Amino acid sequence: MTVRTGRHFLQIPGPTNVPDRVLRAMAAPTIDHRGPEFAALTRRLLDALGPVFGTTGPVVVYPASGTGAWEAALVNTLSPGDRVLCFETGHFASLWRAMARSLGLDVEFVPGDWRHGASPEAALARLSADTEHRVKAVCVVHNETSTGVTSRVPEIRAAIDAADHPALLLVDTVSSLGSLEYRHDAWGVDVTVTGSQKGLMLPPGLSFNAVSEKALSAARTARLPKSFWDWTPIIDANEAGYFPYTPATNLLYGLEEALDMLADEGLEQVWARHARHAAATRSAVRGWGLDVLCADEREHSGSLTAVLLPDGQDADAVRKVVLERFDMSLGTGLGRLAGQVFRIGHLGHFNDLTLAGTLAGVQMGLELAGVPVGHQGLADALDHLRTT
Ligand code: PLP
Repeated sequence: MTVRTGRHFLQIPGPTNVPDRVLRAMAAPTIDHRGPEFAALTRRLLDALGPVFGTTGPVVVYPASGTGAWEAALVNTLSPGDRVLCFETGHFASLWRAMARSLGLDVEFVPGDWRHGASPEAALARLSADTEHRVKAVCVVHNETSTGVTSRVPEIRAAIDAADHPALLLVDTVSSLGSLEYRHDAWGVDVTVTGSQKGLMLPPGLSFNAVSEKALSAARTARLPKSFWDWTPIIDANEAGYFPYTPATNLLYGLEEALDMLADEGLEQVWARHARHAAATRSAVRGWGLDVLCADEREHSGSLTAVLLPDGQDADAVRKVVLERFDMSLGTGLGRLAGQVFRIGHLGHFNDLTLAGTLAGVQMGLELAGVPVGHQGLADALDHLRTT
């Protein structure tokens, strides 16, 4: 048996490292979810959640993973046969599209190369051509966790407006909320989908929909079958501080602690911290002579970096040696990127030395796996951290 010392480095792009404060908060005794103490907790949580999404509207909390919140966004707003416009930005956008299809929606999928975000130009062209307004929703993955590419959501909103199109805008922020700049109300988003296990620094198990007035009104006529995911009974029960089912009480304790941590740091500082660590990571990748998968300077992700290996090199062999030698987990290449990329998560509970340790492990792993990278990458990243 290998005895591990020190902490495991969980540098996949989620689940992320859960702060000790959050772990301790979750270790409190479970309380009666129909009692007054719980109602007070729910009210505090719903008040604290709005600012993180940038909304004054309702936020619905589910005891489910992000996939559940994807489904909730679709089934609450749409009817069988409705057309939705999706963009092939990567693995998660492809999974959301597959879900939409399996729910009986008619998906128009704008093809992509998995190195760019959703194209505002394509959105404008497709929506302008849709003079009968058959497209009922535009679905965008804000931060593609499989590629490290961040779509320009405000520009997609501007394209919908320029086409004078009434479609709803549904945005997946599973790997961006609480890490990257995001503004549900100001950006005109109708449903924001997220999960607990990344920027919110919790274990997996909670997911969320932030809902606009327009989405609430679409929900009144939407006919896709739903029961558990139905917003209405949840929003109604939340008024009194409760849920229509047994909530994930201890995860909610952790959520309160994590929201306190984000508020203490300040969201703008949280976003700046992630942007700076992402820039330092990219300078390491360039110093190693490797390519960042994201091909557009405007779309680099602040929460993760996907590193493309030269032909003939196996990204999973690098991950394997990094895990075995240095007890660090890196993200694997998903879908068609399998073996070609590994992903460095630099989001959530994270600081300069966590990044320095992470990049040191990556550099040593690359060398041990036979990828000729030299030492410049780590040196450049440390320079970036020292001087910015
Ligand atoms: N969307 C994105 C961007 C994700 O990164 C993930 C998971 O990593 C999901 C959706 C699915 O979330 P979950 O795995 O929590 O169901």
